[in-house]
Amino acid sequence: MAKIGINIATGSLQKAEMIVGIDLGTTNSLVAIIHPETKQPVALKEHDSSSLVPSVVHFDVFGNPEVGQGAKRYLESDPANTIFSAKRLMGKSYKDVSQSAGYFTYKVIDDNTDALVKVQVGSSFYSPTDLSSFILAELKKRAEHILKTPVTKAVITVPAYFNDAQRQATRDAGKLAGLDVLRIVNEPTAASLAYGLGLEKEGETTIAVYDLGGGTFDISILKITDGVFDVLSTNGDTYLGGDDIDRAIIDYWLAQKSIDIKVLQKSPNLLQTIRLSAEEAKKALSSSDQFETTIDGQVYQITKSVFEGLIDSIIGKTIDCCKNALADAKLNAGQIDSIVMVGGSTRIPAVKAAVASFFGKPVNDSINPDEVVALGAAVQADILAGNNKDFLLLDITPLSLGIETMGGLMEVLVPRNSKVPTQVGRQYTTHVDGQSSMRVSVYQGERDLVKDNRKLAEFNLTGIPGMPAGLPKVDIQFLLNADGILVVKAKELRSGVEQIIEVKPALDLTDDQVEKMLQDSIENAAADMVLRALVEARTEGEQLLAVTEKFMVKHQSLLTPDEVTQTALALQALQLAITMEDKNLIQTKIEALNETTRPFAERAMDEAVKGALKGKSI
Ligand code: AMP
Repeated sequence: MAKIGINIATGSLQKAEMIVGIDLGTTNSLVAIIHPETKQPVALKEHDSSSLVPSVVHFDVFGNPEVGQGAKRYLESDPANTIFSAKRLMGKSYKDVSQSAGYFTYKVIDDNTDALVKVQVGSSFYSPTDLSSFILAELKKRAEHILKTPVTKAVITVPAYFNDAQRQATRDAGKLAGLDVLRIVNEPTAASLAYGLGLEKEGETTIAVYDLGGGTFDISILKITDGVFDVLSTNGDTYLGGDDIDRAIIDYWLAQKSIDIKVLQKSPNLLQTIRLSAEEAKKALSSSDQFETTIDGQVYQITKSVFEGLIDSIIGKTIDCCKNALADAKLNAGQIDSIVMVGGSTRIPAVKAAVASFFGKPVNDSINPDEVVALGAAVQADILAGNNKDFLLLDITPLSLGIETMGGLMEVLVPRNSKVPTQVGRQYTTHVDGQSSMRVSVYQGERDLVKDNRKLAEFNLTGIPGMPAGLPKVDIQFLLNADGILVVKAKELRSGVEQIIEVKPALDLTDDQVEKMLQDSIENAAADMVLRALVEARTEGEQLLAVTEKFMVKHQSLLTPDEVTQTALALQALQLAITMEDKNLIQTKIEALNETTRPFAERAMDEAVKGALKGKSI
């Protein structure tokens, strides 16, 4: 265990390297730093351009990615190759996002419902981590251009409700973009830090962070005790924001002009112009009382009072979420000491007024709501750099701790820089029928393959009762106490068999050794991630081969001879792709095999249902 100021980051921190703060947003992303002279946080921008970089990736015909404003131009003209809102997919399986499948205009792979989603563009497959890494790489490039110095260390923000997998996916994206991610910080925590809330070493305060962006709404209730942030509750709506407000104006105009939306959809250019004018009207009404424009020879106008009537129910929904968040935190509105406004849509005076009235006090809105999260990330970065000496330094883990998963991959349970004490748990299962033991190997380090990390311990959880593969539930808990002792518990939940070991990570490592391990991980990040993607594709392919072969043996009678041949060919092709170690080819063949087997998998399901019904009297 180590103090931040003297460990991990240190070697290079003493060289006063710039650590940037990054807000990796759903719609827009940006980078901020603490200005070396004014010591104030500033968002980086090129001359008079905006600090906001649209979180959009467009792939050209050769598969080369372009990020930002340039990519955004293709949203309408080339939707299949233009990826927006990749953040919504981070760390998610298709099952998780299937309800909002209609929202995406690009291809989200949906065959293996428990696997992590992938996006297909042409013949290439990208994970949300890959897509986010393109955005982060662009931000890194811009920052280096503006600052005229290499940028390798960053603090990245994520929503407070992100789970471990989503946080890890964000870390990985940073690593893949060549960034050493010193800390993942909650967006509401960052916004509070930008207002200087929580920078006092002592005392307790409760904060509500109200974040209404372009497409999402989040409310977080935080408690800060002696400089330590605790998320008491979060609430919100993942599909509520400025876009809905624009739509309310469009609907109003269409009703005024008696235009049928179905007719309008046939002239996409006109629809797009109306959409852009609606956003323009909304922004204008934040500072004036009415708006008027001419589109296609027709005058479109709206007054502030009409506008406020239109968005009343949208604002009402956000206030309902605030009520829920308070209830979950077991607080009432009067117990909130400060309210922080985040997101472009909080510029609307009616929004500010409603929030202030609900909480019964004025809101903090003096900082640009589009930049406040990134600015706070820069404040956090500065604290990590050791420049803000007043800030409390907490005990943290210098290196990540995790276990080996299929294919020799490192799965991180406790990411480096986590505060201690900490406890993290995750569930695993078996992959062979009747498997009676499971080997648990504990590693420390930042590389993607365990062979490049430090093995701390290994044990076998034995006595798992015979069950089909995938049925046992093995819960692995990592408990890291304040003295740096790691207790690893493995328990099969159905049978209750359990094993516990204690290990002492990092205690015998010098700062130089820790620094070297970090350096290695950054230098090998790109190669490691490629390898990880290949191992994951190979594991997925091998599992599919096994399942399909088993299915063929069991259900051959349901298949036509032609289907048997087609399946055999698809199996062979996948097997060959696995042997060739080509990630995209493996994924293409997984897709192809799934396509081939889908019809008779459904038939087998019908049979199973019929069989089950036969025995019952109905
Ligand atoms: P964000 O996701 O935080 O970048 O939020 C962007 C949203 O804020 C978009 O829906 C914008 O249309 C909206 N927005 C930006 N400026 C204003 C403004 N002056 N008044 C109202 N909404 C705005």
